[in-house]
Amino acid sequence: MRRGTLPSGAVRKPTRSREVGRGEKVIAGVWRLRLPLPWPGVPHCNAWALAAGPGVVLVDTGMHEPGSMAHLDRALDQAGLKVEHVRLIVCTHAHVDHCGQAPPIAARAGCEVWIHHDHSHHTAATEDPEQALARRIVVAHQSGVPGDAVKRWLERRRAQGSGQAGTLHVDRELAEGDTVTTDLGDWRVIETPGHAPSHVCLYQPERRLLLSGDHLLGRPSLYFDAGYTPDPVAEFLDSLDKVERLDARLVLAGHGRPFTDVAGHVAANRTLVQERLDAVQAALAAGPRTAYEVAQAVYGDRLTEVTANWLLSKTLCWLTHLERRGLAERGGDSPERWS
Ligand SMILES: [Zn+2]
Ligand SMILES: [Zn+2]
Repeated sequence: MRRGTLPSGAVRKPTRSREVGRGEKVIAGVWRLRLPLPWPGVPHCNAWALAAGPGVVLVDTGMHEPGSMAHLDRALDQAGLKVEHVRLIVCTHAHVDHCGQAPPIAARAGCEVWIHHDHSHHTAATEDPEQALARRIVVAHQSGVPGDAVKRWLERRRAQGSGQAGTLHVDRELAEGDTVTTDLGDWRVIETPGHAPSHVCLYQPERRLLLSGDHLLGRPSLYFDAGYTPDPVAEFLDSLDKVERLDARLVLAGHGRPFTDVAGHVAANRTLVQERLDAVQAALAAGPRTAYEVAQAVYGDRLTEVTANWLLSKTLCWLTHLERRGLAERGGDSPERWS
């Protein structure tokens, strides 16, 4: 997650990034559009343009913030394309760096937006941001986050844009087995929940190409949305198995460069999951702990007021996973203590 994926509620730097949008052809009919992100440790995300008749299918959109459409225009221009060429937007998942800019692109191009049907983890929050914030505050208190830190986080969140332009209108809700047609052939929708409930990969079987979103990244990096599904860690591990069986030869990820060694990347992710679960169990061995104390033990200096939100989300997912395997239990109420 630190260098790859981000939660919808990630914190961004107040300073403007000096990155600019860039576009490059990766293989015939596939362009990588590298779009800047204002997030610490995650300088950019990828949108992918896939040739489709007289235009392109755009997979992911980048987030929305002042100047972000100009970055997309610049990246498309370097690929010899324009927003008006976009015939369809498909989002790999409902995080702002992947769907935030969909509404203005769809409006300019006059095209549809497709995303997996479990998108409410994001769309409900954008429709009622105050309720979403209130929910996070309850979780923060329950997890033992100090009250003044929660207050400062809330102030920062209210001062920032959400990264989502307007309301995300979904024209078609995707499910396993749906297809997206391009000049390279049909891409199969592969449900890969874990990183987010709405996550899908797109697989082109004849060419063995995988658009992996944030499920599989060039540098192993984990993030899970807590609180929407029973066990995001287990879902993520199942999704790794599923993607490994596809036998893709080239992966086009949501962040970073394309890569080929799918089995190696899947194995590195499994190893990282096990290391984190071991670290959480080691933290619990020292006695009952709040989720916040476990996050401090597992992530050390990486846990700051800026990173606490997403590291806490991950920690809650590690704890929930161990609980479901009978290796941890929670007690008390506010805050909860895990042992
Ligand atoms: Zn991402
Ligand atoms: Zn993501």
